[in-house]
Amino acid sequence: MQRVNAERRITALTPTMAALMQVEAPAGAADQPLAEVLRAGRRSFDGAPVRRVLAFLPDAVGVRVWQMYPDVLNPVLAHAPLRVPLRAVMPPKTPVCYASVFTGALPDYHGIRVYERPVLTCDTLFDALIRAGRRPAIVAVPNCSMSLIFREREMDYFPEPDDDAVTRRVEELLEADSHDFIAAYCGAADKEQHRTAPQGPPFEAAVRDVVRRFVHLAEVFERCVGARRALVFAPDHGGHLNPETGKGDHGLDIPEDMEGYHCFGFGAP
Ligand SMILES: [Zn+2]
Repeated sequence: MQRVNAERRITALTPTMAALMQVEAPAGAADQPLAEVLRAGRRSFDGAPVRRVLAFLPDAVGVRVWQMYPDVLNPVLAHAPLRVPLRAVMPPKTPVCYASVFTGALPDYHGIRVYERPVLTCDTLFDALIRAGRRPAIVAVPNCSMSLIFREREMDYFPEPDDDAVTRRVEELLEADSHDFIAAYCGAADKEQHRTAPQGPPFEAAVRDVVRRFVHLAEVFERCVGARRALVFAPDHGGHLNPETGKGDHGLDIPEDMEGYHCFGFGAP
């Protein structure tokens, strides 16, 4: 696999989104915002704050997937053309990484250091948005990390039974233009790599399914949410083939698990 040598981390997403939406970042967010993303956003909106965000969260779609299936992934860039290489945090497990993505902080700060899913009591992007009077929502299948670790806030949670229901719910929320920040989780690629392998026809089909959902929601977002919108494609970590099991795995400090891309698109001032 070709390394992308990502120097910045997924913890940069939260300060970047806070800066774009012009809300104060959560307390633990120490990274600088991604300068090229701020520039692109500010250029699009002439310095005005981003009004609506759709953050699509494709579990385990790391750099290896982009390199194996470029034709499958490229439609993402039609909607979110600014692709930024970012490193996951150690260990690259879903709750550890999405806790870091949405606190903007390393595991020592938020406390999730292994695969466990407590409700985070520390400050997150969702709390920062609520304080600023903005309305966040999380749409995810029940019992996944995204559905569990950001609970107990004054915000809307939509646990949906499967990916189709998640997609439909997000579509509904976008059509209603009811929330300022929608986090939409999609676990199909991760599920498939653990079931079979992080390569081969079933996995490729799962990745295709993830991208199809993203593109569909991007189109709804573009159609229904008029002004100053930011679209984000933000995975947590990647994955590798575990030679002992023949299945997909993640959790190691290797490029396959640690490197990925967050992609950004901005629409209409
Ligand atoms: Zn994951």
